[in-house]
Amino acid sequence: MKPDNNDAKRAIAKDTVAVHAGRMSREHFGAVNTPVYRASTILYDNFEALDAADAPFIYGRLGTPTSKSLEDAINALEGAARTVVCPSGINAITTAILAVCKAGDHLLVTDTCYDPTRTFCDRYLRRWGVETTYYDPLIGARIGELFRANTRAVFCESPGSLTFEVQDMPAIAAAAHAKGASVLLDNTWATPLFFNAFAHGADLSVQAATKYVGGHADVMIGYVSANESHAKSLRDTHHDLGLYASGDDCFLALRGLRTMAVRLYRHQETALKLVRWLKARPEVARVLYPALEDDPGHAIWKRDFRGASGLFGVVLNPVSREAVAAFFDGLALFGRGYSWGGYESLIVPAHIRRTATEFPAEGPVLRIHSGLEDPDDLIADLDSAFARLREESG
Ligand SMILES: *Cc1c(COP(=O)(O)O)cnc(C)c1O
Repeated sequence: MKPDNNDAKRAIAKDTVAVHAGRMSREHFGAVNTPVYRASTILYDNFEALDAADAPFIYGRLGTPTSKSLEDAINALEGAARTVVCPSGINAITTAILAVCKAGDHLLVTDTCYDPTRTFCDRYLRRWGVETTYYDPLIGARIGELFRANTRAVFCESPGSLTFEVQDMPAIAAAAHAKGASVLLDNTWATPLFFNAFAHGADLSVQAATKYVGGHADVMIGYVSANESHAKSLRDTHHDLGLYASGDDCFLALRGLRTMAVRLYRHQETALKLVRWLKARPEVARVLYPALEDDPGHAIWKRDFRGASGLFGVVLNPVSREAVAAFFDGLALFGRGYSWGGYESLIVPAHIRRTATEFPAEGPVLRIHSGLEDPDDLIADLDSAFARLREESG
């Protein structure tokens, strides 16, 4: 989807920011990209310089020009006061939660959160005296009813993992802020290019940069961006936990960021083609992708998002496990494997875990990532997969 007219200026600006922000060519002999700094110790010329508290770089874990370039670029793209880079996306999520929650607090988490987010809440937050309530992702303003005196934060993910329900972020954020609670968002699906987290009420925005930012299936990295009021607690949490991403990984993430806009437009175009084709198949009960006009989340998606990425769900009509296996085995272009956001197409079976709501699925649910291959080649690969599925079903 092309940005609509009244958004065109901002759209151009964001794509341009992704190309230009955070570059430090002058400090690096004109090199376009900030090089990889591998450093633990940073040396100083004399005692006074060593003893001064205001050196730009102090110790490798606390930042190098490579990590600073990445953070500067992300701050500009997110419109954030502060960004910290973490060793993985899930670590960025746990860092954001730890930046706001303390013992005795209550946390509201969307029922469609990325599953390891749930594990962290159930296993660790509980042990540390933070209670989690999972809520219906479609709750909107009614989330106000779930607040208790000790509710400290609302964790959102939109569209949610595996089932792609779109959340009414402005309504949820308004309810949360009215109660003095913070709003955390896992914005990995849309990226800052397609959803402006802070403009829609988030206080902390998380990105599994392993996905679209890295974009090439070769780096594990995450980040959290904060608005002004959450910048200090985020910075302190990241610092005190000793979190860090290597110079090589920061370099790869920054390199990926430069081409993210052009990749996302293509991922989106291909996903729309695949989704429309899949929807018409007799083996498919429905497709889960908010950019589709008849998707339940379409209205909110259209109101709040600037685009849709390449990841979507497919609910098959009832079919045997063997038939699903036949569908998977023989795919030539779709890799069978976890993660997404790289240049290549992927497919996995979706195992949906919920506690607050049900997701009644007609049959097996698949998750597809549309890569940068020619869409017609991808359709031909899926077409053969359906032929194998039918043959196996008899
Ligand atoms: C993959 C993913 C994560 C975790 O990222 P890692 O880098 O794999 O730790 C978090 N949230 C969402 C929505 C994801 O898809």
